[in-house]
Amino acid sequence: MVSRVIPVQPFDLVIFGATGDLARRKILPGLYRRMLAGQMPTEARIIGAARSKLTAKAFREMVEEALETFIGKERLDAGTVKTFLAALHYVAVDAGGEGGWKELGAILGQDPRPVRGFYLSVGPSLFGPIAARLHHSGIATETSRIVVEKPLGHDLGSAQALNAQLAESFDESQIYRIDHYLGKETVQNLMAVRFANALFEPLWNARFIDHVQITVAENIGVGGRGGYYDKSGAMRDMVQNHLMQLLCLTAMEPPAQFEADRVRDEKLKVIRSLEPVTPEDTVRGQYRAGNGEPSYAEHAENPDSTTESYVALKVNIANWRWQGTPFYLRTGKRLRARLSEIAVVFKEPPHSIFPKLPAHQTNALIIRLQPDEGITLRMTIKEPGPGGMRLADVPLDMSFAEALGPSAESMPDAYERLIMDVMRGDQTLFMRGDEVEAAWEWTDRILAEWSESRDKPKPYDAGGSGPENALELMHRDGRRWREIEA
Ligand code: NAP
Repeated sequence: MVSRVIPVQPFDLVIFGATGDLARRKILPGLYRRMLAGQMPTEARIIGAARSKLTAKAFREMVEEALETFIGKERLDAGTVKTFLAALHYVAVDAGGEGGWKELGAILGQDPRPVRGFYLSVGPSLFGPIAARLHHSGIATETSRIVVEKPLGHDLGSAQALNAQLAESFDESQIYRIDHYLGKETVQNLMAVRFANALFEPLWNARFIDHVQITVAENIGVGGRGGYYDKSGAMRDMVQNHLMQLLCLTAMEPPAQFEADRVRDEKLKVIRSLEPVTPEDTVRGQYRAGNGEPSYAEHAENPDSTTESYVALKVNIANWRWQGTPFYLRTGKRLRARLSEIAVVFKEPPHSIFPKLPAHQTNALIIRLQPDEGITLRMTIKEPGPGGMRLADVPLDMSFAEALGPSAESMPDAYERLIMDVMRGDQTLFMRGDEVEAAWEWTDRILAEWSESRDKPKPYDAGGSGPENALELMHRDGRRWREIEA
């Protein structure tokens, strides 16, 4: 087995926004789990920072409660919880003001650890001020790392402004832009499947692949986030980042090495090869009221909202590998099930000696991100038993939980893996500034056409599979979406 595990050195990790939802739900439980797995050095320190005036004791109590809520009291290991809480510190810092910076510098100055990281789990308007403050106060060293997460801008202009603000204080090699989809086991496995096996790569092109479908479906609505979401919509919230990253990893050329900038160069080439999407190749939708829940417009408290809670696109990549093989992307809220997958659908055999197969029975490689991460190859075989040559479509299934047995249980979740990669200094699974900007440039063109057309998103049923036009987008090409089912 080839492995490339780089040990994690003792670190100081400052979490700005440590009392917030993301920190309590994902970042702190993730760090606890890494400690339990023996991956977090015991000398590591985690320093919470937010405006609330908390003592270290009160912060530890808050974190313990978060571990109990988000991991489960009965699943916690008492000894590890004790060691983990002892690694926690807290400083009240106002990102936009003077208070707390000296105290933060003082804690970090005492016996500094070899690696220093800053996780900005705060609103994006604070990214620039915090980066500048860290730089000018000398708290950030030349080797410190800074972590930011979506929303990385609202359009190209704001993304450029954000990148410029970060670049004033940090070198690109110090900036870690998280897209948690890239931390998922299956997404990395997509690279392993493509580049560590001789089986697929020769077929991974327009000659053998009919089309690719990328689906990120959610069964919940926008709920309490309606106000925020209404200014964003599915295109900005999901397509520009998560779906774009999945498209890049599926479509990119093999990098010369599995190394951060080589992988990111190849992803960037894909984004730059995307053809402009014509209005006929886009569908927008908004969910109706149903199953006892309000409609999108009611959730957003905006009866005239033109924001999309669903989007489907047909995307063409103008390069040799993909000429003639479209990528269909769709994402939406309040759909039938929570499902994220990439389906690579192969062409029919050039000459079939058997009666024609229905389209859905052609070979397909399904890379499932959630639920139940795994990879399935759909094959056509002879149906067992008598009755002549009858063909059947069967899955060759590899669920990671089953294939990897008990070790799959201890598989780190996306955040855990990514935070440890920050501490190791491995940027492979993080977005580079130019990638983010190129993705916005492409997204902005589509958004501008929508805004000019003044068409409203099409209503669709809650609990269904999206608007009728999205089905039509496929049907007119003689194709069909895979079912949205968990
Ligand atoms: P949140 O629950 O509102 O938490 C915000 C945190 O920032 C709190 O700890 C708050 O604490 C702190 N804060 C606010 N203003 C501050 C200031 N001036 N100085 C220092 N600290 C300040 O938000 P969240 O859901 O955790 O999200 C944080 C960021 O991650 C947002 O940009 C969000 O878009 C992004 N994000 C969140 C999720 C998620 O699942 N929650 C997922 C992806 C991305 P005080 O009020 O005590 O200062």
